[in-house]
Amino acid sequence: MSAASSPHNPPYLLSPLENADGGGADGAPLRIGHGYDLHRLETVAPQGDGRPFVLGGVRIEHDRGPVGHSDGDALLHAITDALLGAIGQPDIGQLFPDTDPAHAGQDSRVFLAEACRRLAAAGYAIGNLDATVICEKPRLSTHKETIRASIAGLLGVGQSRVNVKAKTHEGVDAVGEQRAIEVHCVVIIHKTA
Ligand code: MG
Repeated sequence: MSAASSPHNPPYLLSPLENADGGGADGAPLRIGHGYDLHRLETVAPQGDGRPFVLGGVRIEHDRGPVGHSDGDALLHAITDALLGAIGQPDIGQLFPDTDPAHAGQDSRVFLAEACRRLAAAGYAIGNLDATVICEKPRLSTHKETIRASIAGLLGVGQSRVNVKAKTHEGVDAVGEQRAIEVHCVVIIHKTA
């Protein structure tokens, strides 16, 4: 049995021609990516170590904020990792190490822009993206549409291709005790040519 038709490489996902491009991607018509991130939440500086609360590129007034080397935008980090994962490339921590002073306080939109650049270079575009944010406070229901619009704008896609869900953690564990924020994200990408 050839590698191209083995159970681990179904022929509908791989052909020699498609496999020749796409960098870490294999040229498959559809690929899926998953991203996850968690940041500790602390009282915002100067009283604590927290940075201003930012999610999906949207600044939200809150007394606690993420601790991170960059701006700590957990949603943009999860999306960035989902896109990078979908094209089989190194993750956000490998591309932008938190030991690099150049990224201290970095606006996470920069990370997402690089993931989008790599996605396009690999010959793919976003089908749709679905994210779940889990945090106890602030309540995100009134911010979700703004965040969704922000992400769609950053990705250069229509808002119908982006979905953001928000949940609490029912008061339990670090997330429920407002000591952390957590994000899960999945994305489908499709070959553009
Ligand atoms: Mg992060």
